[in-house]
Amino acid sequence: MNPYRVAVVGSGPAGVYTTDALVRSALDVSVDVYDRLPTPYGLVRYGVAPDHPRIKSIVVALRKVLERDGVRFLGDVHVGRDVTTRELAELYDAVVFATGASVGRRLAVPGEELAGVCSATDFVAWYSGHPDHAHAGESFPLEAESVVVVGAGNVALDVARLLVKSAADLARTDMPPHVLDRLAHSGVRDVHLVCRRGPQHAKFTAKELRELLELHDVGTELDAGLLPAGSQDPLTAANLKVFADLASREVPAGRRTLHFHFWSRPVELLGEGGAVSAVRLERTREAGGAVVATGEVTDLRAGMVLRSVGYHSTPVGALPFDEDLGRVPHDAGRVIGPDGRALDGHYVAGWAKRGPSGVVGTNRACAAGTVAGLVTDLAARPPRGAGPDEVDRVLAGRGVRPVTYDGWLSIDAEEESRGQGLGRARTKIPDWETLRHVAAAHADRPGRGAA
Ligand code: NAP
Repeated sequence: MNPYRVAVVGSGPAGVYTTDALVRSALDVSVDVYDRLPTPYGLVRYGVAPDHPRIKSIVVALRKVLERDGVRFLGDVHVGRDVTTRELAELYDAVVFATGASVGRRLAVPGEELAGVCSATDFVAWYSGHPDHAHAGESFPLEAESVVVVGAGNVALDVARLLVKSAADLARTDMPPHVLDRLAHSGVRDVHLVCRRGPQHAKFTAKELRELLELHDVGTELDAGLLPAGSQDPLTAANLKVFADLASREVPAGRRTLHFHFWSRPVELLGEGGAVSAVRLERTREAGGAVVATGEVTDLRAGMVLRSVGYHSTPVGALPFDEDLGRVPHDAGRVIGPDGRALDGHYVAGWAKRGPSGVVGTNRACAAGTVAGLVTDLAARPPRGAGPDEVDRVLAGRGVRPVTYDGWLSIDAEEESRGQGLGRARTKIPDWETLRHVAAAHADRPGRGAA
């Protein structure tokens, strides 16, 4: 009997952990892992900060999954365009959507359309060498001396840290050379992190905050008077300790300075000649557990504003989507259709399922939860008996040539070789054309594992 065949859409951590849970399950199953990009690993490759190689090293574990027998990687296939979600549902016994949350949320304040007001998501994608953002550099006015980053999460901290890091530190990363050059020669002197609540509420994690203590040529400014004496919550207490260390630390002639503005929210972005020039901040305070405005405003000079206030997902083809929640409606990973019932054969995992929260490893348990339900559902019926040829025929008939796993390995090797030529471990290839060209030498085989 042919094995069950499952399509996983998205090869970020959620998609790869889903694949892992499937091939480890009691089902005899083969898995096709689709990605819109020619490269696997999603946010590990294009979201985890380039100066966090330890987190990125998770790819060592992820690649073992893609190299398992019965697993194929089909990169550069846009589900919803090259093949519809309905077609996938007909060609496979089940489809798991692990398409993430790729769009930065907006601030919804006047002035957001001004030039120089950018999404941190786009900035991260650009400095990570994402091929959709290869030419986006021009939209980031890095000649600005003063930059405002809105948000108190780890993404805000990532972009702020990369804006103040020295050229020597940045050169240790895998950033494409043109990105490194622009960041290394930026005019940025002051980065202002604007947090609408207090230090005890910030979503930064202590480990990431502690990295700031190691930046010996970067000053930090924060009002120690705003720090509560302590907290019963160990994670909050750890953050408060780092904030206190940052507040008391002396940096003689800081090249750049990172300023924390707690209890402040942007109410308007002000411009000159169509470009942002300042952020109007209003002081906030807590009342009955809620953040309330005080009416007290100040203007903070800013030549660039990065909003970093969370992400939301985008609809994929005909897959149900909850616009209010910004994710796919589901019950324990089973996608819920418009009639309020589980949509046969459709599942969701990762940020598309639970929203943009948690660290890379959080996706392992999330994927396992989805796969548990999927395995129960499939075990109750025989496999459809379809083979890989059917989907290969559909794609070939449309002129779609998936980037194979070996094609990706070819990109991987080329990036390492380019990096080594520059004295770095790797430099990313940032454009579609070159990625496809380098992969093409291996486009003849759609995957490693037998299907
Ligand atoms: P996040 O952790 O949810 O933080 C979003 C921040 O935006 C919060 O401080 C939130 O404040 C603030 N915010 C929301 N709406 C706002 C508004 N209208 N005006 C002002 N501030 C607003 O999101 P994230 O930073 O995008 O990170 C997403 C996930 O990825 C998190 O789980 C994060 O830990 C993870 N991540 C981890 C790492 C790492 O481990 N190194 C790196 C990057 C990202 P309130 O709290 O007041 O709502």
